[in-house]
Order: sequence, then C-alpha cells, then structure tokens
Amino acid sequence: MVPSTRNTLELLPDRGAVLISGASFAGLATAYGLNRLGYRVTLIEAAQGLRRGGTPVDIEGETIDILKRMGLVDRVRARALPSRRFAFKNADDSTLGSMGVSGDQASEVRYEIHRDDLLDILFDAVADDVELLFGRSMTGLEERGDGVEVTLDNGERRDVALVVGCDGNRSNTRRLVFGGGDQFTYFMGGYFFLKVVPDTGLLPADTTEVFRTPGRMAMLNGYDDRTDIGFGFRTESEIAYDYRDRAQQHQLIEEQFGELGWKVPAMLASVAGDDDFYFDRINQIRMPCWSRGRVVLVGDAGYCVSPLAGLGGSMAIIGAGRLASALERYPDNHASAFRHYEDGLRPFVEEIQERAASEGMSTMCPADEAELAERDREIAAGDMGW
Ligand SMILES: Cc1cc2nc3c(=O)[nH]c(=O)nc-3n(C[C@H](O)[C@H](O)[C@H](O)COP(=O)(O)OP(=O)(O)OC[C@H]3O[C@@H](n4cnc5c(N)ncnc54)[C@H](O)[C@@H]3O)c2cc1C
Repeated sequence: MVPSTRNTLELLPDRGAVLISGASFAGLATAYGLNRLGYRVTLIEAAQGLRRGGTPVDIEGETIDILKRMGLVDRVRARALPSRRFAFKNADDSTLGSMGVSGDQASEVRYEIHRDDLLDILFDAVADDVELLFGRSMTGLEERGDGVEVTLDNGERRDVALVVGCDGNRSNTRRLVFGGGDQFTYFMGGYFFLKVVPDTGLLPADTTEVFRTPGRMAMLNGYDDRTDIGFGFRTESEIAYDYRDRAQQHQLIEEQFGELGWKVPAMLASVAGDDDFYFDRINQIRMPCWSRGRVVLVGDAGYCVSPLAGLGGSMAIIGAGRLASALERYPDNHASAFRHYEDGLRPFVEEIQERAASEGMSTMCPADEAELAERDREIAAGDMGW
C-alpha cells in the first residue's frame, strides 16, 4: 500500500494548478513529484486507460534513488524479474553465444520489472491525489502573463500555472508549442514491433532469444506466464504508413518476416489478428531546448533516447525526478527551475543518445552479411555487445 500524500499536502502552500499531458512513466512520476510540492495536478491521457504492453524496464542508478524518494522502491523490487539467460540463435536454433542478464540476484544495482507492473505501481501512487482524465487531449494552449490557458478536446478551458508535456515520442504538447512535423526527430533507420502474449511455450521461462538476418531481428523474451514477441528491421528511409492503421502495420511485419525461418512463423501466428501492440519507428528526439515559457517537456516528448538505448523508462522517471527537484529549488521561478532541470540532465541524455546512435542499430540489426558475420564472431568470442 502506498501512503497517500493528501495529509502531508494539507500543510503545503498551494502552488497553483498544473496540467500534465500523458499518463505513462514520465507523466505519472511527474504527477507524483509535483503533487508532493503542493501543485494541484490534472493528468490527461489520450487513451481510455493506461497504455499497456512493452518490454521490461531497467531499474538502476538514479532511477532507484528516485523510487526510494517516492517511497516506491520496495514495491518495485518486490516485482523484479528473475535473472534471464540471453542467447543469440542460428536458423537451426543452435546457440551462437549466451550470457546471464542481471536480475533479482543483483537487485541492489540493477533489475528489470514488467512495464505494466511499473505503470500500475506509479498509477496507484497518484490515483487518489491527482485529477485523472482518460480519453482527453489538448487542442490549444495559450500563455498569458502569469499562466497558461489550455483548451481540451471536449472544448473545456482551464487556467494553469504550468503545463508539462509527458506525451511521448509523438508528443502533442511538443507539436502545439514547438511546432509540428518531424523537425526534432532523428530517424535511426528502422522500426520496432513488440507484443506481449500469454506464454507461447516457444522458449523456457527467464530466457531471451535473438535471431538475426541482415537488416532484421526477431526476439523472444520468455517469462513464466507470458512471452514478448519482438521484431526489428532496417529501412533506408522512413516508410509512409498511418500509425493509427494497425492492419497496415501487421502487413508490414508480415512482409518483412513472412519468409524467415527459426521460430518466426510461430511468432507471427501468435500475434496475428490482435491490434493491441507497440509499433513505431526507431528514432530519437533531439531538441535545442526542452521548455518554452511555462511549458516543459519530460521523457520521450523532449528527449526520446530510442528503444535501442534500452533506457526510455528510466530516463522518463529520472526526468520527472529532476524536474520536481528543480521546482522545489526554485519555487517562485519556473524559468530558473526549467533551466536547472535541463542543464543538469542534458549531458546525460546526449551521452545515451550518442551511444545508441553509434552502436545501437548495428547491434540490433546488422546491415549486411559482412556486419552480421562480424557481430556473430564477437558473440561467439563472448563479447555480446547487447
Ligand atoms: C504501449 C507502449 C509500449 C511500449 N513498448 C516499448 C518497448 O517494448 N520497448 C521500448 O523501448 N519502448 C517502449 N515504449 C516506449 C517507452 O514506454 C518509452 O520510451 C518510455 O517509457 C518513456 O516514457 P514516456 O512516459 O516519456 O512516454 P510513453 O511511455 O510513450 O508515454 C506517453 C503517454 O502519452 C500518451 N499520449 C500520447 N498522445 C497524447 C495526447 N495527445 N494527449 C494525452 N496523452 C497522450 C500516450 O498514450 C502514453 O500513455 C512503449 C510505449 C508505449 C506507450
């Protein structure tokens, strides 16, 4: 049971209303932090509920410190996944190389938790203390002197002191305030599909298996009750598709993987006919500045590091923690707080983005036979590079 912050809040000064767009890791963690500082938080989420699914989230370093400060670290640790074996496979299912992945045995340092479990824990921590509006989105936003007037998609208008955009890679807040299009999108040359299904029996529990051909990668994560089905592939340039058209995205995966062997036919069969999956281009968001006036971005909305970095969830929680600390330090000066937040976090974000950009794609989907052979040699020699 997470202690409600309501009693503590009664002692805090009212710091005004804040609207947060997006109820995933960045949004829920930011809601928690700002609520504790005395802001009246409204959290809007475009989907009708929390958006579930996805690969587990790594918890390590500063993320652990922030979860400790939030009083959530024991709940998160209690759901830590067991250690996993990680194996690269050939088409005949022989193992090219394998290694252990840290799990609960290394739980002081680094562990993993299912994406849905972490969402539930963060949601429980704020649900009683903030106003939550599902199925809602912003359509307009206008800064006026000492506040921002926000228009919601049901026509309702709200005056708030601050707006925090936590609405992910395709952020609506970013589009409304900084401009649309893909001006801040750094496309990394590929796409990633992920669907969590009930245990398929395709691999043992607590195991990850990866099969690669030039430009393509099929991945299975096995747990005791579920299997992650993952596909990644390279493209020269972005594919024209409608990201709301799920049938079209299924078709894209079929076209890319329909001819492959290994366990791929069974993987495709296990995700067929289901529209609830994650599919997106592999990209980063690189912005010259993460705030404008009284609007600030947190997580993928401002600085998506890409699935290749494997740190998106942690980065969102770190961002939320840093923003709350900055607003605590500069309670009456949002501009200084936003600057402090960005100055402190930007070097870390850029380091992670740089590493993912230089190594990520060639590790996940080697471009051609030569690069694949080189990677396979490294794997066989014990340098997994993953
Ligand atoms: C369903 C899902 C599955 C994912 N699976 C993976 C995965 O397997 N591997 C991986 O590396 N990353 C995955 N991600 C991305 C990963 O969650 C993020 O990189 C990371 O968690 C950063 O968190 P975030 O809160 O900044 O953004 P996100 O987790 O992307 O959350 C953004 C939230 O904003 C909401 N939103 C979007 N538009 C609006 C709007 N107009 N108004 C209000 N709310 C809006 C979204 O519905 C979502 O809840 C997934 C994301 C989602 C949503």
